[in-house]
Amino acid sequence: MRHVPARWIALVVAAMPAMAGANGSNLTVVLDFKGQYSPASVEAMKQETQNILKGAGLHLDWKSRQEASQSSSPDLVVVRFNGSCELPPPPLYDELGEIGPLASTYTTDGQVQPFSDVACDRVGAFVRSGLNGGDFKKADLLIGRALGRVVAHELVHMLTGQKKHSREGVFEPGLTVEQLVAGELPLSPADIERLRARP
Ligand SMILES: [Zn+2]
Repeated sequence: MRHVPARWIALVVAAMPAMAGANGSNLTVVLDFKGQYSPASVEAMKQETQNILKGAGLHLDWKSRQEASQSSSPDLVVVRFNGSCELPPPPLYDELGEIGPLASTYTTDGQVQPFSDVACDRVGAFVRSGLNGGDFKKADLLIGRALGRVVAHELVHMLTGQKKHSREGVFEPGLTVEQLVAGELPLSPADIERLRARP
């Protein structure tokens, strides 16, 4: 039902010279860390999220809460990281119980808001469950990559207003630990189209 107007908007956008270079737009992502994190992980996270979203013509400007309070940005989302974003110690029991959602995006009156929470403790425990041998040496990088994919997933919710997930790519509903740390996890073609069509 929404397909036709969405395509129409995409055509209008493509016909107008975009402000942020060819066919692109700038999005400010405010990062609000409530617990510990490794700077190397955060760098890896930023690279991963940007890499995923560049297919949709999005350029991300990263700001701390303090930086964001000192300047104004027209297009802005906030991502809050709760708990420690570092690799957690090994679990006391081998069995990994139900970890729960890795992140969530707020809705008000059914409308998706530009505000997400990432459960860093859960992401760390989930990533740890998938690490083997030499992976532990690059744990910072792998946690950063996983966080980057989690943030990209939430950005799709926030930017498209969609609550319903895609069947493939980073906007799938239940991502496995392999999907979070191995290979690549791009946007699906449908997600790229929806992101490009946003007003
Ligand atoms: Zn989701």
